[in-house]
Amino acid sequence: MGFKQLEDNRKRKLKVLRLSLKQNCNFSCIYCKPENYSLDVLNIEQFKKLILVSCRLGVNSLRITGGEPLLSSQLDELLYEIKSQRLEESNPVANLQDISLTTNGYLLSKKKANELFKNGLDRITVSLDAIDPDIFSNMIGEENKIIGKEKLFTVLEGIDHAINAGFNPKAGKLKINAVIKKEINDNQIFELVDFAKKRSIEIRFIEYMDVGISNNWQPSDVFFSERIIRLLKKKHRLKDYGRKEGQTANRWYMSDSNSFVSTISSISNPFCSDCNRLRITSDGYAYTCLFSNEGINLNPWLSLPINLHELENKIKSIWEAREDNYSEDRFKVLEKKTDKNQKIHPSMSYLGG
Ligand code: SAM
Ligand code: SF4
Ligand code: SF4
Repeated sequence: MGFKQLEDNRKRKLKVLRLSLKQNCNFSCIYCKPENYSLDVLNIEQFKKLILVSCRLGVNSLRITGGEPLLSSQLDELLYEIKSQRLEESNPVANLQDISLTTNGYLLSKKKANELFKNGLDRITVSLDAIDPDIFSNMIGEENKIIGKEKLFTVLEGIDHAINAGFNPKAGKLKINAVIKKEINDNQIFELVDFAKKRSIEIRFIEYMDVGISNNWQPSDVFFSERIIRLLKKKHRLKDYGRKEGQTANRWYMSDSNSFVSTISSISNPFCSDCNRLRITSDGYAYTCLFSNEGINLNPWLSLPINLHELENKIKSIWEAREDNYSEDRFKVLEKKTDKNQKIHPSMSYLGG
């Protein structure tokens, strides 16, 4: 299959497309704080062409995200279309080895989980930051603790619906993401691991990052991965499996449960040197870094009928010009900021994580 492997200025390959289908969200996590204003969202044809062109440039992994991607009315059709294209041998989309989705799990009903599986989704990651209902409510920004508890149970049920639909955690088809904020949900680490362990789900602890401007991030809020591992070693036998090139997670094998715990250490151990991810927002802006101040508007190349060649050249030129390494320089950048601790940049719910 003819595709050109694209590299940026630091010889980093373009491998992963993180495509946000919707910036809005039905949760309001305290570390993310979605803005929920309305945007002109791209249509199916435009999403499809972005995926096609990215695959022509070497992308082999697609992550569908948001905001909350399960709120998107275009999701099922998009997945179905990609599934069909993946079956065509000469189609660059067949280059996709992995199609995954990140969700808060609230809309992961039995029907939805079955549809996602049927439509060719390979993997799901569910975000879950606490098992205690009050802490969960706090993390998702739900003031009413009774509603928060109901939402927690719906998410936990959603995880089981996904497993029953065929997203087998033992085969890496279902994972959990947990953001740990110091003194807010750090007492949930063991409970989260126990919950995941019972179902052989890999749980990935993400260091709280300074994305967006509304979460009031402070360095002192970060609960470092190293500390999580130190804590877990008191109770579990962990073997370091390291971080694979181009991946974000450092994996640890828990021999007492035949499953993995992972850490994503963007703050304490940045992985910019092999960052292979392009983000495209639901309104058609390309971001080559989670911490870019501005995206590049692809809409002029997305008006119908789309000229694939021109769109491809645009994305190629964006990637080739890429120099990003924000996490490697984070504290130098922040030191220069005298007025506030946080660099101005778009929110996580807009960028898609
Ligand atoms: N709404 C979906 C969800 O929560 O899974 C998908 C979008 S969300 C922006 C993608 C991932 O980003 C989630 O796993 C979430 O926990 C993570 N995230 C959001 N804000 C973050 C922050 N400030 N630091 C670290 N991770 C964050
Ligand atoms: Fe919504 Fe995901 Fe952000 Fe939470 S992390 S507010 S679920 S987009
Ligand atoms: Fe990639 Fe930017 Fe994160 Fe570095 S800071 S790993 S370049 S997204």
